[in-house]
Amino acid sequence: MPLQFADRLNNVETSAIRELFKLLGKPGIISFAGGFPDSAMFDVDGIRAASNAALDEEPGAALQYGATEGYQPLREQLAAFMASKGAQDIAPENLIVTTGSQQALDLLGKTLISPGDKVIVEGPTFLATIQCFRLYGAELISAPIDGDGVQTDVLEQLIAEHQPKFVYLIPTFGNPSGALLPLERRKKVLELAVKYNTLVVEDDPYGDLYFGEAPPPSLLALSAQVPGSRELLVHCGSLSKVLSPGLRVGWMIAPPELLAKATMCKQFSDAHTSTFAQATAAQYLKAGRMPATLARVRAVYAERAQAMGDALRKELGDAIAFVQPQGGLFVWARLTGAGGKVADGNVFAKRAIEKGVAFVPGAPFFCSQPDNATLRLSFATADADKIREGVARLARAL
Ligand code: PMP
Repeated sequence: MPLQFADRLNNVETSAIRELFKLLGKPGIISFAGGFPDSAMFDVDGIRAASNAALDEEPGAALQYGATEGYQPLREQLAAFMASKGAQDIAPENLIVTTGSQQALDLLGKTLISPGDKVIVEGPTFLATIQCFRLYGAELISAPIDGDGVQTDVLEQLIAEHQPKFVYLIPTFGNPSGALLPLERRKKVLELAVKYNTLVVEDDPYGDLYFGEAPPPSLLALSAQVPGSRELLVHCGSLSKVLSPGLRVGWMIAPPELLAKATMCKQFSDAHTSTFAQATAAQYLKAGRMPATLARVRAVYAERAQAMGDALRKELGDAIAFVQPQGGLFVWARLTGAGGKVADGNVFAKRAIEKGVAFVPGAPFFCSQPDNATLRLSFATADADKIREGVARLARAL
């Protein structure tokens, strides 16, 4: 007899992207497909020193069960980290440590979404968010973006029309969009939260990865200036992109009532995030290594982003349109079809693999009305020479 699965699994399917990833094992392929940071950039010495310190100083706490809310010294370090990024008024008690920010998204699904509830997300948005919220039965509504992120005038219409349970945004160097939401739009989002009494979730794993000047303050930091907005704001952070995704350390800042419910759900899910990983992360932050690490990864990704942008402009010219990213890991591009060239990202992705270069077509990142001409190109894991060679292959594929 076939296994009988829960009805909620009918809401999701394994992504088309997974099929593509199977082809990546081909020898010699240059991949712009992953969403990973570059493992060559991990501060192995720093993390080794931090894990040694964790075992030397508090072996019991680092290896024992711990509080669901998180390891207190890490909560303190994370509150200080948020303060260094402009959110000065976050107490350790205002955040819980999560097993990656992915778990924060899952906890939001668990605590907020009943089947049929409406949630507004950007079109395009992070694929795992789409899948996670759908698993809880959310009806997702797509708010369009432009080169500056979500279009706040359209967002207002959608909020007014649908009265969503919440709005989920990646305002800083979005995945996959790479877009940076300007200050005025950030303020507008917070004003909309207050005007329509709508919860807003700010997912921010990329905010530290800026290339030039610092981006505008996070929604969280700005909410101190917009009366009433802090009570309607959730902020998800992560060490994955700047330090190590394998540590699985993320955090969620939310209004106390929501944080309490999320903590309860987390208790039944993984009891707590690995105490060893948390103690290691706490020691790493305490040792003051983060600023140097951030400077190093920003410089490397900045060079790669520039190399990719320059190569795309040179090799593909007007066959492709994109905004040069100011941070993050991704170039979000659109095939224009200029010169009668292929303008379907799915078709192009297959041809590109035949030519030895991989990327992810953009369509799966839309919860509705996919734009099939879009592509996501990661510049994170190949060095500048590889990037130039990969883009040359893209041009040949086109
Ligand atoms: N949100 C976004 C927008 C992401 O791109 C990712 C990772 N790709 C995550 C959340 C999850 O990251 P982690 O669980 O490693 O913190």
